[in-house]
Amino acid sequence: MSASRDGRIAHGLRLCIDRSLCVGFGDCVDIAPEAFQLDDDSIAILIDPDRVDRERLLRACDACPVDAITVWGEDGAQLVP
Ligand code: SF4
Repeated sequence: MSASRDGRIAHGLRLCIDRSLCVGFGDCVDIAPEAFQLDDDSIAILIDPDRVDRERLLRACDACPVDAITVWGEDGAQLVP
């Protein structure tokens, strides 16, 4: 049993995966495997987003086809989706 949301701060960005929206295709994992993994149910979880540079991290978040990943910047502005 896992939480429906997974959140983290990395590079000053606030990341949130809405796991209830994730369809598990793994686009985020393909681009940033240090940051994202699929769990046993093939739903994305955050691993270690600080290991990915900011630009690639944002690209991985933006790649989500169902907008399950939301990112807010340092100033609170929503950057993704
Ligand atoms: S890209 Fe979106 S739908 Fe695909 S695994 Fe990542 S969070 Fe889930």
